[in-house]
Amino acid sequence: MKPHKQIKDWGLGLTTPLIIAGPCSAETPEQIEQICKEMKEENIVPQLFRAGIWKPRTRPGSFEGVGEEGLRWLEIVRHHLNIPVTVEVGNAAHVELALKHKVDVLWIGARTTVNPFAVQEIAEALRGVDVPVMIKNPMNPDLELWMGALERMYAVGIDKLAAIHRGFSDAYDKRYRNKPNWSMPIHLKREWTGMEVINDPSHIVGRRDGLLEVAQSAMNFGLDGLMIETHHDPDKAWSDAKQQVTPARLKEMIDSIDFKQPLENMKPDERLQDLRRAVDHLDDQLLDILQERFAVIDQIGAHKREHHLTVFQSDRWKEVMDSRTQKGIKKHLSEKFMKELLYCIHEESVKRQEKQLREAEAVKK
Ligand code: PEP
Ligand code: MN
Repeated sequence: MKPHKQIKDWGLGLTTPLIIAGPCSAETPEQIEQICKEMKEENIVPQLFRAGIWKPRTRPGSFEGVGEEGLRWLEIVRHHLNIPVTVEVGNAAHVELALKHKVDVLWIGARTTVNPFAVQEIAEALRGVDVPVMIKNPMNPDLELWMGALERMYAVGIDKLAAIHRGFSDAYDKRYRNKPNWSMPIHLKREWTGMEVINDPSHIVGRRDGLLEVAQSAMNFGLDGLMIETHHDPDKAWSDAKQQVTPARLKEMIDSIDFKQPLENMKPDERLQDLRRAVDHLDDQLLDILQERFAVIDQIGAHKREHHLTVFQSDRWKEVMDSRTQKGIKKHLSEKFMKELLYCIHEESVKRQEKQLREAEAVKK
């Protein structure tokens, strides 16, 4: 696959960290104008203005967006702030209208990314069109679906691409509206070289408090920008009232975030090089030990086979899990990390032994 175009090459004068702000929904022309005026007064003009025109609502009966009319109001943004605008599209008709009104950047929402039919319909509507598209992560933590949506755009010729990390729904974790699951955006960046990911703390937190903390974490993890819902009178917003901030608060937040330099852009100094060499060496040792461990696992597998024992033995597994986790905790490793590590090693061990068993049976037959 040839490389896609990064944000700086979209031809819109954007750079990273990219700051996107604007209301959850466009409500009235006066609302858009007021937000723009306050952004200007507070000296916090984002690089890209967002506004929802069609709102995908979980339950019917709530405000579903102003529709095409709202696209005309985006002229107000251009007039006051002279910045490009982005809106969410959920089907081919939305794409057609957004393009008709010269929307600069499109985004696909989390409820659409989960549905390959809908994503493909949007992709077909975009075939041969030169417009940047940002894809929000799907509601569920499924990297394949997220990548799949990006690939569907790329396949029809959309090469100006970015991703938006807006968290994942989790019925049990009440701390967030959508749990961040930081490993997902990081995985995406690892899997698709150069893919920039914008963090959307508003939909992750779902409340005003806690936004800053999530935004800072995103920068610490090396994500490439922030999308923050901003409204001149958040409490009276027609959608997502609890999570929107005023332009004044947006300014305060942006000013207090420590925007890190990506390591790749820095000339690594001596100290960093030394430390990296130490890590390389430790990783080699880690791999040697894993190799040895799996050699022993294979011997155990052979023994189980000879004695007609099952590969998975739950008592032993529980003992390994508990004792290693306790040891890890004493070494200041977190319980969650220990459990994930042990699951991963154990899963591989079971797979190897099961494969050995299948191969031995095939030879017998
Ligand atoms: C939004 O950005 O207002 C929105 C509906 O987001 P999401 O698709 O992340 O729920
Ligand atoms: Mn919203």
